[in-house]
Amino acid sequence: MSDWSTETLHDDYRQSLKIDRLLYDSETDHQRLKLFENKTFGRVLTLDDVVQVTEGDNFIYHEMLSHVPILSHGAARRVLIIGGGDGGMAREVLKHDAIDEVVMVEIDAGVVEFSREFLPGISAGAFDDPRLKLVIADGAEFIRTTEGGFDVIIVDSTDPVGPGEVLFTDHFYGHAKRALTPGGILVTQNGVPFLQGAELTNTMRAFKALFADWTCYLATVPTYAGGPMAFGWGTDGAARQVSLEELEARFAAAAISPDYYTPAVHQGAFALPGYVAKLMP
Ligand code: SAM
Repeated sequence: MSDWSTETLHDDYRQSLKIDRLLYDSETDHQRLKLFENKTFGRVLTLDDVVQVTEGDNFIYHEMLSHVPILSHGAARRVLIIGGGDGGMAREVLKHDAIDEVVMVEIDAGVVEFSREFLPGISAGAFDDPRLKLVIADGAEFIRTTEGGFDVIIVDSTDPVGPGEVLFTDHFYGHAKRALTPGGILVTQNGVPFLQGAELTNTMRAFKALFADWTCYLATVPTYAGGPMAFGWGTDGAARQVSLEELEARFAAAAISPDYYTPAVHQGAFALPGYVAKLMP
């Protein structure tokens, strides 16, 4: 057994993390789940050898995929999370006292059970919050049959391979739009544009056909290798027109203390560098 965990996500580019202590390595019903300790990033969870979450840098990803749409919306009450089995996204969403209900639809019960036991710091009690409704199901099936009524939908999925592939289809995005309330916001984990440009272009093409306001925003997560990660953004509302002053007022009222998110970082994240703008349809 090598004492390095090497990602095989890209043909000619590999990220490796040192395994200082292997805690778990086995198949679930859907994926190979591995957990190990690394001096720099703490506990690291991989699915099919792709880094999903680390104790060290998960705050960047979870804060930007939760606080950006919730504070942009300004009156969100019901949030849907597709995926997110480690509980980190629910942790950040549930920091907003104004949120009444969070429905989390995760395909792999093994990831949830496992994260509760071995990564309690990631969910930080979110799984025990009475506002959280956990559904073990395929997100594509759930979104096709749900009655909807969600102010914000967050797709915190794996990459478009294996069980996550169906979450990057026009069909899924169409049903997600239908499940939003008027002015509701859909945000998606959309890969690292420098290495996964086509993935972003495909999603943006679908959002362009579905939403009045569609784009992506960026944040760099050290263990999502290859530069900044893109987050898809789609809404028919004017949530992106909210002024910095108004965002600062909402941020203050929310009384949360993130380690990455600020209202200025929020607004700046939508300024796209040329190579990303060129990927937009
Ligand atoms: N932040 C990570 C990333 O960017 O790669 C994602 C973390 S989260 C652990 C991803 C979750 O999506 C996994 O728990 C996986 O089981 C779940 N997932 C994958 N396909 C799914 C599907 N079709 N429906 C619901 N959950 C799914």
